[in-house]
Amino acid sequence: MKILVVGTGAREHAIVHALAHEADRTGAEPHELHAAPGNPGIGELATLHAVDQNDGVAVAALATGLGVDLVVVGPEAPLVAGVGDAVREAGIPVFGPSAEAARLEGSKAFAKDVMAAASVPTALAHVCTEVDQVAAAVDAFGAPYVIKDDGLAAGKGVVVTEDRQAALEHAAACFATPRRAADGTPEDPRVVVEEYLDGPEVSLFCVSDGATVVPLAPAQDFKRAFDADAGPNTGGMGAYSPLPWAPEGLVDEVVTRVAQPTIDEMARRGTPFVGVLYVGLALTSRGTRVVEFNARFGDPETQSVLTRLATPLSAVMLAAAQGRLAELGALRWHDDASVTVVVAAHGYPGAVRSGDPITGIDAAEEVEGVHVLHAGTARTGDGGLVAAGGRVLSVVARGADLAEARRRAYAAVDRIVLPGSHHRSDIAAKAAAGEVTLAG
Ligand code: AMP
Repeated sequence: MKILVVGTGAREHAIVHALAHEADRTGAEPHELHAAPGNPGIGELATLHAVDQNDGVAVAALATGLGVDLVVVGPEAPLVAGVGDAVREAGIPVFGPSAEAARLEGSKAFAKDVMAAASVPTALAHVCTEVDQVAAAVDAFGAPYVIKDDGLAAGKGVVVTEDRQAALEHAAACFATPRRAADGTPEDPRVVVEEYLDGPEVSLFCVSDGATVVPLAPAQDFKRAFDADAGPNTGGMGAYSPLPWAPEGLVDEVVTRVAQPTIDEMARRGTPFVGVLYVGLALTSRGTRVVEFNARFGDPETQSVLTRLATPLSAVMLAAAQGRLAELGALRWHDDASVTVVVAAHGYPGAVRSGDPITGIDAAEEVEGVHVLHAGTARTGDGGLVAAGGRVLSVVARGADLAEARRRAYAAVDRIVLPGSHHRSDIAAKAAAGEVTLAG
């Protein structure tokens, strides 16, 4: 197949990596891979095209010109901007929802409305349009306080804090940030105040063609910047899969009670959801609750999940894009474990420093079971590699179990040299030691 992947991150590199390595197992003809705009790591596996990923007309023109069989839209911003719609209108199968369906991620208030209509268990929430309403909601729920910017904020619009003043300040900052709808018209900022959910979190990616739901393997990510969940929320500092501590039947429960009713509700509204419905869950003392929906693969969970998928990813994505998921059957998985550690630039998630040289990737990939995926990297004129973003690399390791995958991941991280960089040293540590406890 000829496939175009849209995006620039380690998630898109993981997708391209999975597609590029399908032929190793199937013996089939390798895919012809393209990326828009991609990154230096993706460029080693696919042809890069300097096209604005948020420009649907340009992406559709590129896909048409290349004559691709499938377009995969990785990140949320192009989905919310309607890149999927533009490609679909050009008659090309696309893996990724329409702008209307991507509102499940683009607006937390919209997601809450769909969840209520579909009777999906989630945190109680108040949608507020001014600070006084936030103060009342915060006092009604009590500490810890959960305050969310209604719009897209790359995982950084959420503050969870015991400090009432900090909660109100975050809300005020959200209200002070101008907001635009997908079509560019100004919108009133909104803030969602939620009840706090205790218990461990699970990310479950559910692939859908608009009607059928096929779950991938569950994973867990690490949102906070520093070890022991200290520091601010980030886009994600690491992940692992599978979850040896997850209750039996969890995936079936989430498909039955969350994903299928949500997909059915979106279809009922005339905006079927095609792509990955990312279900972020908390396993609370009162049962499983949805923390958030995203409209695409999660980064960095994707890095650990896709490396364990034995069914060809291209077959899954094309079947979803063409409405044929029901024919696919159950997915096959490698019976091992994967740990992903994100190497972040100096200053991340605050103001990051760019331009520091990166060395040691080849040495890191000599560690058994390891591959390194690029996110914020750039090539210099002389072919060197430098940091050019917040999350710079994802180091992905597979092993017989989480303990082995962890050892390999950190052995590889130790070989990478990036001045001023930081990473968490506790990714999957509790799970590998059998220390994750369910709430209540
Ligand atoms: P979101 O962008 O909604 O996924 O939130 C980002 C992160 O904030 C989540 O992954 C959780 O770690 C945390 N969070 C969000 N909502 C809640 C909640 N209601 N209770 C506890 N933690 C939450």
